[in-house]
Amino acid sequence: MTTPIALVDLQALAQSQRDELLAAAQRVLESGWYVLGKEVEAFEAAFAAFIGSGQAVSVANGTDAVELSLRAVGIRAGDHVATVSHTAVATVAAIERLGAIPVLVDIDPHRYTLCPDSLAAAMAAYPIRAVVAVHLYGQCADMPRILDVAGDVPVIEDCAQATGARLNGCVAGTMAAAGSFSFYPTKNLGAFGDGGAVVTTDTNCAARLRRLRQYGWQERYDSVEVGVNSRLDELQAALLSVRLTRLAQENRRRQELAALYDRELAEVADIYTPSVAAGAEHVYHLYVIRSANRDGLMQRLKAAGIGSALHYPLAVHQQQAYAGRLPFAPTGLPQTEAAVREILSLPLHPMLSDEDVLRVCRVLKG
Ligand SMILES: *Cc1c(COP(=O)(O)O)cnc(C)c1O
Repeated sequence: MTTPIALVDLQALAQSQRDELLAAAQRVLESGWYVLGKEVEAFEAAFAAFIGSGQAVSVANGTDAVELSLRAVGIRAGDHVATVSHTAVATVAAIERLGAIPVLVDIDPHRYTLCPDSLAAAMAAYPIRAVVAVHLYGQCADMPRILDVAGDVPVIEDCAQATGARLNGCVAGTMAAAGSFSFYPTKNLGAFGDGGAVVTTDTNCAARLRRLRQYGWQERYDSVEVGVNSRLDELQAALLSVRLTRLAQENRRRQELAALYDRELAEVADIYTPSVAAGAEHVYHLYVIRSANRDGLMQRLKAAGIGSALHYPLAVHQQQAYAGRLPFAPTGLPQTEAAVREILSLPLHPMLSDEDVLRVCRVLKG
């Protein structure tokens, strides 16, 4: 019996920085200060430096990061916000939580991200007040064209899966009004619990986010607007600061492993490897292939002890809680529905070996 290959291995990742992580945790335990303190400030500064511009405002999770970004750019209950149905449900849940109406737009079949033409059709049909562009799987959406179609309408980049990705030299999260990030444990920069952040170069937007995340406080105990409790704790911030020191290296390792998959699977009939747009630097949060025989491949991997998954098995508009009640772009969502039937995520994480990838590919080739 060969050893199983997991889709992700969070234990191995924690083990790889064990001593530094334990030292950070101990520092926080002994500090007597546990929410929004020096560790959070240090992490926000380090994260903004990693992104390369603007300020980072930490929040409790990536869903809040999307919701508060939208609120910070002025979106209110009843406003229409365009986004994709081919995303983590969190993107759409965040829009609805502030009382706004998600308008679902189709995807580009190559990058699996928001299709600018479908967005244009949605904007002609609905009074769209903001756009949430999701940088899915680790690759940026077509931001130049999306910004062009959006015109004066603010665009939020949902960077939960694309921490460190670039497009034409610009880092994900710096190309529009604000960029929202998730530090859910499996994300490229993962905490040991929940966490999130918003990055923006607009100082008013950053100040508003700092108020919104803590009851709308301008000063302690003085709410100048209605806010929420969406704070990052000191423990997660300290652990994230340790994880952040490895992120660039880990993203490069993800890219090496993806290149190996690309090479090994290039000539395999009915398997399409991810396509990377010109000028894009993909950070492979997920390595997603496409095949008409997706279910057969998944079975074969499972029989060989290899993990795989679907991201996602249903588009948002196909899930019970959303079916039949959200408006779509007039183009419909044909590319979204076709992709959902054929996508398959293969094991990919920084602790995976070349030999693991070769074994996955041998099984896929049959
Ligand atoms: C993970 C994810 C989120 C939500 O992040 P949480 O931290 O789990 O709230 C939002 N959008 C996308 C695209 C995601 O992948």
